[in-house]
Amino acid sequence: MSQPFSNQLVRCECCPRQCGVNRRAGQTGFCRIGAGALIAHAGLHQGEEPPISGTRGSGTIFFAGCNLRCVFCQNYQISQEFKPAQMQTLTTDKLADEMLRLAQAGAHNINLVSPSHVIFQAADAIVAARAKGLAIPIVYNSNGYDSVAALRQIRGLVDIYLPDIKYLSNDLARRYSGASDYADVIPEVLREMLDQVGHLDLDDDGIARRGLLVRHLVLPGAADDSRRCLALLAQLAPDTHVSIMSQYSPQHRASRCPEIDRPLTVREYDEVTDYAVELGLENAFIQELRSRHRYLPDFHRDRPFE
Ligand code: SF4
Repeated sequence: MSQPFSNQLVRCECCPRQCGVNRRAGQTGFCRIGAGALIAHAGLHQGEEPPISGTRGSGTIFFAGCNLRCVFCQNYQISQEFKPAQMQTLTTDKLADEMLRLAQAGAHNINLVSPSHVIFQAADAIVAARAKGLAIPIVYNSNGYDSVAALRQIRGLVDIYLPDIKYLSNDLARRYSGASDYADVIPEVLREMLDQVGHLDLDDDGIARRGLLVRHLVLPGAADDSRRCLALLAQLAPDTHVSIMSQYSPQHRASRCPEIDRPLTVREYDEVTDYAVELGLENAFIQELRSRHRYLPDFHRDRPFE
């Protein structure tokens, strides 16, 4: 029998931080998560892009902790301010059972939200869930700050990659997310993901079966960097599917950076989406710039999205 993926937590290099701590022995690194995956919320979710949410919802599993510290994080309650004692630490079998429960509830897919720092715990659970009969696609919904080496090790387990491309400026990445090499890492991460799963493939009902869908959140005052991000995607392949998101809201500690302590304007968003058209990125999901509060979850409630 092959070794569990999570054996690699003895010297953690799961993500580009490469902390080298022994999480199996209870040590923690930048992400503050040890050997067990902490689950902040699990349930059917309608708020993703149409090919992911479909009609019945995406079976989201929100992991607590994160390997980025975005000052504007909408999920800061569970990514940065989480209290482990209030959350479930799930073993491989329990996490697999949670996936099966969501599938039985009608989910189109299992959507692992913020998995980069628990990639190997999630991989073990996917293997266990498949052995128990899980038949729907697995979505890896990450911030893009992933280890290419780790992604290569889980090749074949993920059906749909749903990464962010947050920045192509290390200055912005350092200032807003505490990751001074994000822009160096993300191009190779996207190439690896595309190589593993190809372009987004939809069934007859428009629901994603497999492939890559990249997200980009447009930030106030950062249109030049947004353009660079879209140009990279066009260079990767013009038929790359991209979701250009407008829901930026100055949450959490955004007030520490005055230039992003305001909402995005319609004009800023339109400039970026117009550029996507100029680049020939035809497979772009574009949002209405509507009420931003619609998208803000509150993880202190049982139903964070209602
Ligand atoms: S997953 Fe956590 S402990 Fe491991 S390298 Fe990344 S931040 Fe460090």
